[in-house]
Amino acid sequence: MRTLTLGALAVLTTSLSPLAATTANAQAAGSIFADASTLPFQAPDFSKIKDSDYQPAILQGIARQQAEIDAIANNPDAPTFANTIEAKERSGQMLNRVYNVFSALTSANTNDALDKIDSETAPKIAALQDAINLNPKLFQRVKTLYDQRATLGLTADQLQVLTVTYQDMARNGALLSVADKAALTTLNGKIAALQTEFGQKLTAGTKDGALVVKSKAALAGMSDGEIAAAAKAAADRKLPGGSYVIALQNTTQQPALSSLTNRATRQALFTKSWTRSEKGDANDTRALVQELAQLRAQKAKLLGFPDYASFALSDQMAKTRDTATGFLQQMVPALASAQHRDAAELNTLIKTKGGKFTVNPADWNYYSEQLRKARFDLDQGQIKPYLEITNVLENGVFFAANQLYGLSFKKRSDIPVYHPDVTVYQVNDADGSELALFYFDPWKRDNKQGGAWMSNFVNQTTLLGTKPVVFNVENFIKPAAGQPALITWDDANTMFHEFGHALHGMLSNQKYPTIAGTNTARDFVEFPSQFNENWMTEPAVLANFAKHYQTGAPMPADLIAKIKKAHTFNQGYALGEVIAAALLDLKWHSLPASAPKQDVLKFESQALGATGLDVKDVPSRYHSPYFRHIWGGGYAAGYYAYSWTEMLDHDAFQWFTDNGGMTRANGQRFRDMILSKGHSQDYAEMYRAFTGRDPSIEPMLKARGLK
Ligand SMILES: [Zn+2]
Repeated sequence: MRTLTLGALAVLTTSLSPLAATTANAQAAGSIFADASTLPFQAPDFSKIKDSDYQPAILQGIARQQAEIDAIANNPDAPTFANTIEAKERSGQMLNRVYNVFSALTSANTNDALDKIDSETAPKIAALQDAINLNPKLFQRVKTLYDQRATLGLTADQLQVLTVTYQDMARNGALLSVADKAALTTLNGKIAALQTEFGQKLTAGTKDGALVVKSKAALAGMSDGEIAAAAKAAADRKLPGGSYVIALQNTTQQPALSSLTNRATRQALFTKSWTRSEKGDANDTRALVQELAQLRAQKAKLLGFPDYASFALSDQMAKTRDTATGFLQQMVPALASAQHRDAAELNTLIKTKGGKFTVNPADWNYYSEQLRKARFDLDQGQIKPYLEITNVLENGVFFAANQLYGLSFKKRSDIPVYHPDVTVYQVNDADGSELALFYFDPWKRDNKQGGAWMSNFVNQTTLLGTKPVVFNVENFIKPAAGQPALITWDDANTMFHEFGHALHGMLSNQKYPTIAGTNTARDFVEFPSQFNENWMTEPAVLANFAKHYQTGAPMPADLIAKIKKAHTFNQGYALGEVIAAALLDLKWHSLPASAPKQDVLKFESQALGATGLDVKDVPSRYHSPYFRHIWGGGYAAGYYAYSWTEMLDHDAFQWFTDNGGMTRANGQRFRDMILSKGHSQDYAEMYRAFTGRDPSIEPMLKARGLK
């Protein structure tokens, strides 16, 4: 459910010195990526690209961009917006061209050759980024312009791209003294190494933490297929015959906990999950957590922030640690009351069944699953016949985009693809003009990463005259040959989600690449995607696609009602564990650099105890020693963003509901004020301009059945 953006690959620029131009052209001779593709929309020509083309093209792209940046930095003329910022925006075109395609394939259709190239080129690309971000001559020019920004006569988007460029470089340490820059580099190196070590220890600890049982009876409640898989997992680990292995997943809760009838097995599995990384063995991660918390606080201090959360939030929509924390805390009363209510209900059920204990986290899913079955009894076999994939795509996802934004879609069988399962559509605008290409790659493959995502082959920018070429990748189970391509309700929801990202890319209407499309903050980028999920259950949309694949009969109304109702079940737990994790993340990253090393378990227990959530029954989705999102990299002080964007999604949908619902006019307003805007404006101002108010948590709590 993510967008793949070349976060690191901020698009850079030309304005080549004659010498650099000659060198770069000579190096690039013969590469298929040296010039823009001549296919429609500059689509990558997969009929000609070979695996062996990538490495030389990436290296040439890096050399070209380095030459382009050097030319800007060494320009003897005084800095102007055109010769510095705009020139930087034009740079790196060749690298973007090849890397957009290369990273798409290493994610969706990789092989050993591509993986090897990836390992070899990734450090070089990271080094190029550092060389640009920390180039003192380049930064001096950017800073000169930034300091004069009020007098340069810039347009609003020019001012924004200048500001974003300046702030990004400053956040990377460009303002620091030489000595502090060196200190930052050392800190970054240590942090990166510890994050990698955390990831490796956690992977090993999770594997070692698997529950081994010696009797089939202990697995009662699991299906025959699951038991067979557990026996195979034991055999794969070369355990004696008659052993069974339940491997751990990355979260606190484990899928088997909802079906295991043997309470002792449940407790054992839960304990295995909870303690996987705190056993005092080689896989114990607590010392790494302690050190990472300190090093990040030191990094923030060096960059002028009181703590790491303040640093990480400063370029996000939420902006401050207190805003993000306050947002999460606001949900606590509704969550805590749902948690207490649900726990009481589960305790009644336990008593009815003769149990002489009260619910704990190891029991929660087992008993709540029984309530779910009694109340909703949703059978995917009943739902799937109404969800044929092409029908969902063309008459659901595309139909909603037509009703809201005026878009139309036409299949293009003439555009080459990287795998026969990929379909390409041309997207036309309301006035019939050509807008974008959209690639759809739905089926699971062994050489595809898990999950679902969106990215671009070609980014939208009027500066360079390119239109968006966008793709969605999913991991649905492919039907056997000759069978209808039926998907689950969740799969269909994922299609709407990823297409929301695609719309954010395709409807982008910006001049400068740095502020175009999905190139937005982490606590904003999931807003258009989550928002788009709402249209799946809009009655007019659902009626247009949810039809039986054989008879064409509409999905029965009582089935739809049941599915909708099921989504509000058990939300005290489902949202509660996420909010606990988000608060835990922010608490860890609110420590100042002066704080001593923390006892990891004690810190977590105090931090969460102070929130008001019922963490005894509903613990954090990730316990500190195995919270990979925050200690393995990526999401440090950012886990709240999942819930923040969910708030925006429901709040914006509430605006539609209050203003006439799914109309073309409302869609156009959302397109003009949000989807086309990239990061051309402050996110909070952009949002306020659209709805006329700040976002509220109420619609989200209502949608989750918590209000
Ligand atoms: Zn997403």
